[in-house]
Amino acid sequence: MTHSELPKDPAAFALWRQAQDIRARSTLAGIYYLIAWLLVWLISGEPREQLALGLAGCAYFGGLLLLRLAHRLPTQNNRQILQLWLDRQWTLILLGALGWGLALGWTLYNEDFAGSRVIAMMATIAFSTASVYHLAMRRYLSLLLLPLLYLPGLLALALDWQAQRGHFIALLAYLSYLVFALGRNREIYRSHLELELKLLEQQQSLEQLSRTDSLTQLGNRYQFNSLFPVMVANAHRQNEPLSLVLLDIDFFKRINDEHGHACGDACLSAFAERMRQVFRRESDALLRLGGEEFGVLMPNTPLEQAKLLAESFRQELARQGFKVQGNSLPLTASLGVGCFAPELDNSAEAFFKRVDAALYLAKDAGRNRLALA
Ligand code: GH3
Ligand code: MG
Ligand code: MG
Repeated sequence: MTHSELPKDPAAFALWRQAQDIRARSTLAGIYYLIAWLLVWLISGEPREQLALGLAGCAYFGGLLLLRLAHRLPTQNNRQILQLWLDRQWTLILLGALGWGLALGWTLYNEDFAGSRVIAMMATIAFSTASVYHLAMRRYLSLLLLPLLYLPGLLALALDWQAQRGHFIALLAYLSYLVFALGRNREIYRSHLELELKLLEQQQSLEQLSRTDSLTQLGNRYQFNSLFPVMVANAHRQNEPLSLVLLDIDFFKRINDEHGHACGDACLSAFAERMRQVFRRESDALLRLGGEEFGVLMPNTPLEQAKLLAESFRQELARQGFKVQGNSLPLTASLGVGCFAPELDNSAEAFFKRVDAALYLAKDAGRNRLALA
């Protein structure tokens, strides 16, 4: 999965991360429950006499293993889908632990299984240790795994207190260690997740910064360069009109010369603000292409519509100019407007050049006007 496909929303990312981790960490357990049960059953005194129980255990753990293998990670990463997947996966994990806990209880309780008690206890210690280190991400569900694995066994040992109190005390002591280790591992998991989220957030804001012009908060040239060919290709493929408006402020050098660079800067951000007010469609991409040159990419917009908007922008600017320190500064712009036409433009670059040439026509014809490409 590439970086851009990761869930952007932190809550969804946390669920996605959990799903990835749980899937990678819990599948093995499914195999080992089955192997451990086979050992416990076959090494017990009389496996043939315990045939029905042995096969039932194999069917249970084998069935759970198949369900775990079949439970593939979702391909969509929205919160509901991830949450549902996690709920199901945890159900399988808890059912596995419950099954094993009962197997341990039965082994410790039933004399016929006396020969495999050590194996059952060792397996329980292994399963519980693995879950404390690998499945510590959820506070309550992770904790619930421990009683499921241990309680039936502890109960069986308590019932046979005289003979098995040593095992009871040893298992209980180990269980108490696991509870502490679980808390610590959950903290470690959480802090890793927080770190990863912070990194992701920083990556996104860096990306955003690198694509935004700091003076006007419009997209910058870099953004234009990555957006433009994609939009042209989409328009071509879907046979939809894509319009491009190029705007260049007239005699901007004079404003700098006469009123200072700071005033020039203020003009540029006011110009951008006015663009935002006129080209307001969600899908319009507003960009500062350099110095006092701007662009608007308008997907799904025919030439006529783009021209109307661009012309209203020009007229309004010429009428109102730009207010600075109470005085009104005249400010006009020249515009080139064009719509992508596959029969005229054999590339995105050719399309840009055609509209840029129209802008130069508008300049040459005396400025403060719009020319169609
Ligand atoms: P024309 O009508 O032919 O477009 O004339 P012009 O003066 O607008 O064009 P020219 O390309 O000669 O000058 C552009 C000016 O824009 C020169 C430059 O100092 C100014 N400029 C470019 N970027 C900035 C900026 O970020 N801030 C300020 N204040 N001025 C800028
Ligand atoms: Mg200019
Ligand atoms: Mg210029």
